[in-house]
Amino acid sequence: MDYATIKELIELAEKEGLPISEVVLRVEIGETEQSREEIWQAMLENLGVMRESVATGRAGQIKSPSGLVGGDALKLRVNNTLIPGNFYREVIINALAVAEVNAGMGKIVAGPTAGSSGIIPAVVLALGEHLQLSDAQLTAGLFTAAGLGNVVAKRATLAGAAGGCQAECGVASAMAAGASVELCGGNPNMVGQAFALALKNLLGLACDPVAGLVEVPCVKRNGFAASHALTAAQMALAGIESIIPPDEVIEAMHQIGCLMPASLKETALAGLAVTPTGLAIKERLNQ
Ligand code: SF4
Repeated sequence: MDYATIKELIELAEKEGLPISEVVLRVEIGETEQSREEIWQAMLENLGVMRESVATGRAGQIKSPSGLVGGDALKLRVNNTLIPGNFYREVIINALAVAEVNAGMGKIVAGPTAGSSGIIPAVVLALGEHLQLSDAQLTAGLFTAAGLGNVVAKRATLAGAAGGCQAECGVASAMAAGASVELCGGNPNMVGQAFALALKNLLGLACDPVAGLVEVPCVKRNGFAASHALTAAQMALAGIESIIPPDEVIEAMHQIGCLMPASLKETALAGLAVTPTGLAIKERLNQ
């Protein structure tokens, strides 16, 4: 059993009558010398780290060394917003929380990268609470996300320095969308559709961090990309499909990443990094 594309992953799941998470887990067992229990335990521990980072960030005590970010998750928790108590809001709070912990040098799960580490835990943990899912179900959801990300890693890139932020926050959003669909009872094809819908709509996203730090725009972008994942999941669960298949979306992302100038790929030489404010921040931090 193996897969190199999202199409193959979906076909395997359909042929075996398994959820994507179980296919990913079985392939992992076949590819490594680890037992099912060891692999499962490692993912369960990831879930625990995600939960801790969400709790730490939500408490609002984190400030990044530069002072640029920190405390926004708490701000969103305690201040009036458009729809108080709304599920989307909880997802955004979680995403800001973990991204702030990352910026503050705290412990996070880099899924798929540190810069985009708030998106998957935000969605998975908020869904878990909302739907009262068990840790076993949430762990399975993380395997689904991992399988989708694994295909991107093999066929394109997960690095902002190689493909822009579409490869980090874009892919994280797509992974979270796919995991959400499985957690909500959607079938393997719907998982793939959610992945495609989410990634397709973040194509071209530049990586232009202010002062070269994974802080601005990264932290708030995690909040946006997490809510974006839910939108894609909702569409896919309703039977809406991406006209462009998931694997072709990955190819498009790869092509766009290759065409993107180096100045927009984590070098901080263009975009937000070179705005007057971005440059002033850089100068201040360099003093
Ligand atoms: S802007 Fe760049 S550094 Fe920030 S999260 Fe996106 S890819 Fe990572």
